[in-house]
Amino acid sequence: MKTKIEPFKIKTVEAIPMTTVAQREGYLKEAFYNLFTLRSDKVTIDLLTDSGTTAMSDRQWGALMYADEAYAGSVSYYKFEDAVKKITGFKEVIPTHQGRAAERILFQAMGVEGKFIPNNTHFDTTRGNIEFSHGFAFDLLNEKGKNPEIIDDFKGNMDIAKLEDFIKEKGAENIPVCFITVTNNAGGGQPVSMQNIRETKELCNKYNIPLFLDCCRFAENCYFIKKREKGYENKSILEIAQEMFSYADGATMSAKKDGMSNTGGFLATNNEKLARDARTILIVTEGFVTYGGLARRDLEALAIGFEEVMDENYLSYRIGQVEYLGNQLIKNNVPILNPPGGHGIFLDAKRFLPNMPTSQFPAQVIANEIYRLSGVRTVEIGSLMFGESTIMDLVRLAIPRRVYTQNHIDYVVEACTEAYENRNNLKGLKIVWEAPILRHFTAKLAPID
Ligand SMILES: *Cc1c(COP(=O)(O)O)cnc(C)c1O
Repeated sequence: MKTKIEPFKIKTVEAIPMTTVAQREGYLKEAFYNLFTLRSDKVTIDLLTDSGTTAMSDRQWGALMYADEAYAGSVSYYKFEDAVKKITGFKEVIPTHQGRAAERILFQAMGVEGKFIPNNTHFDTTRGNIEFSHGFAFDLLNEKGKNPEIIDDFKGNMDIAKLEDFIKEKGAENIPVCFITVTNNAGGGQPVSMQNIRETKELCNKYNIPLFLDCCRFAENCYFIKKREKGYENKSILEIAQEMFSYADGATMSAKKDGMSNTGGFLATNNEKLARDARTILIVTEGFVTYGGLARRDLEALAIGFEEVMDENYLSYRIGQVEYLGNQLIKNNVPILNPPGGHGIFLDAKRFLPNMPTSQFPAQVIANEIYRLSGVRTVEIGSLMFGESTIMDLVRLAIPRRVYTQNHIDYVVEACTEAYENRNNLKGLKIVWEAPILRHFTAKLAPID
């Protein structure tokens, strides 16, 4: 059979809001042309993020009922801890309410003030947390990864030569940790190869710098390694994940992604001293060590989610659905970042609106037009999020896990295609108010006359 079907059937449904173009023009204005400010009951298909928007399975919903809500020593926590240890091999597992809490606690415990932290590409919250702690975040992505038109297997790879130059320039003593983000969310959801992770670890060892993985989408990355990297075709996703984590000294995770759940995260490491310091901060600001700000029922759902996410039938459908969306857009000449990533498709604003300067937020303009035409909400990952020096200006169509059907995806294709056909009528935007950090979440915008 050549049709790839969703490897599940639907047991519960949720109605989605249907609106008109005229209504949506009003909603956009009320939201100051920032889709983060839009109420979700005005959104027909929500591709703002794949974070915490996963449809949980019947097993997970069932688990919520038998979870153990004990404050200390909850049985549900130990199931969560076992699941994380099985995959990562790390001895110390610290639950957090989401990924950014793990980041904040890590950088606070390490003390990053005045220090330099490299990554293939820092995600916005990682960069935000480093800068909030008065450290400096640097992206050392390989050159191919910065070009949306080049097709390559592992465009998320760290530029190892550049990393070594960086270490020599800044001094190893000023680099408390090196990060690799798998998959590279801000860089198009592109995977990182096992070889690249191994070589980055070897370089870090040479200079005595710990390597951490930002592992939000570890299973998607492992699936790409299985499909694209020699020597992994017959390994299970679990085996690939175990090898990947064996090269790291620790990890932060937003389990709202590959935890297949609606909230959660963790910080994990083999460094006992770091874990002790982190737990002290956790207790002061998040919660006790066996729940870290989560309801125990969420830990119970996550323990199951970590299993379900490594199911290859699921991953084949997941990556296949994103690839299908990408291929349909390519067929309609809509410029996307190539090849399709793991968790979504990224429209390339520089080719979509080549004449609009980055100072007028072309990716935000495209995102707004897609919403206006269809009620599909996407997100800008470009000059509004990262400033005018952004390497790529992108509109991310993040696909929630197990939520939308093939017909929904076909509707999204139509919306993006219509926006592209209407590109010559689009006007730029200007900021009328912005916050000093992570401005894209709350900025108010207005069309330029
Ligand atoms: C989502 C995400 C984070 C932050 O996690 P939250 O759960 O949103 O706090 C960090 N890094 C990457 C790569 C992410 O995708």
